[in-house]
Amino acid sequence: MTARTIGIIGGGQLGRMLAMAAARLNFRTIILEPQTDCPAAHVANHQIVAAYDDPAALAELAKACDVITYEFENVPVSAVEALAKDIPVYPPPKALEAAQDRLVEKRFINDCGIPTARFHAVDSQSELEAALEDFGGQGVLKTRRLGYDGKGQKVFRSAADSADGAYAALGSVPLILESFIPFEREISIIAARATDGTAVAFDPAENVHRNGILHTSTVPASIADATAEAARKAAEAILSSLGYVGVIGIEFFVLSDGNLIANEMAPRVHNSGHWTEAACVISQFEQHIRAIGGLPLGNADRHSDCVMQNLIGDDILSVPDWLKRRDAFVHLYGKTESRPGRKMGHVTVLTAKA
Ligand code: AMP
Repeated sequence: MTARTIGIIGGGQLGRMLAMAAARLNFRTIILEPQTDCPAAHVANHQIVAAYDDPAALAELAKACDVITYEFENVPVSAVEALAKDIPVYPPPKALEAAQDRLVEKRFINDCGIPTARFHAVDSQSELEAALEDFGGQGVLKTRRLGYDGKGQKVFRSAADSADGAYAALGSVPLILESFIPFEREISIIAARATDGTAVAFDPAENVHRNGILHTSTVPASIADATAEAARKAAEAILSSLGYVGVIGIEFFVLSDGNLIANEMAPRVHNSGHWTEAACVISQFEQHIRAIGGLPLGNADRHSDCVMQNLIGDDILSVPDWLKRRDAFVHLYGKTESRPGRKMGHVTVLTAKA
């Protein structure tokens, strides 16, 4: 195979792990990222140091690459659409557009025949009060754009929770109020679609969040086969509706009757899929590189049971202990400075498949 070049917009740990997987298949990688010394640049062939929407930098990236991808969903859609006129951009800009705005995303997911929480667009304090009244005083208020790891959210648990000033507290920006879902557990599914339309999904993972940040992903999830099958079917519907190429991560709430409510989708490799590098023959990162590189998708079968745990902030101090364990696969992101809430690495503990 002739080595070709993949452009990756974004230089964080996801870009780093994509670049590592790309190198193993003889692809070169170029990272577009304004921050120097970023995790992805340590392992890529080259970094263009510029803003994600810098027209000259994007033109330079397009000229030097055969295909372009991105590692986070807040890349400006206009920048990606302009690029897509000259060079394949995967996942397609349509997917980015659907994932960037929670309101557009929920409508899109519903159009695919997949249930979500009920929702109201909220553009003022009075709209918030009306929406809360409709949901009996309960709900989760979120910014429509640029929210991540639970940031930009407020939970109303009962009618006793005051909504006073909540619209302003979230920045007086476009918001969405979702109905509160009394879920039993949270799962996600990582799936991929190739340029020829074939699709493959990894087993669903069961996710636990702490302080709004993913803490652990456990596979297999404690769900019925029918629930796992429903997650796969939902992923297939979303992928084919978007004419998708690459890996997608879709998060769901599981209700006590086993039914699924989709929460959100990420048009990229996903933190809750990091376990695949240790417990599957082909990781989500390689799967994405294969998909966007025009190669056949790999085998997504899981050979082990596992628990992936994020190393956040000072968790990084536990690495010497993790390294002594024979059952742990340690992956560090090359970040020199640890801060509370910052993802520094992750560990996947493997056990024999039950
Ligand atoms: P998100 O940023 O949408 O992933 O939300 C962060 C976390 O908040 C989720 O993982 C859930 O634990 C919780 N959450 C979000 N939306 C809802 C909802 N509509 N009902 C109940 N819990 C929610």
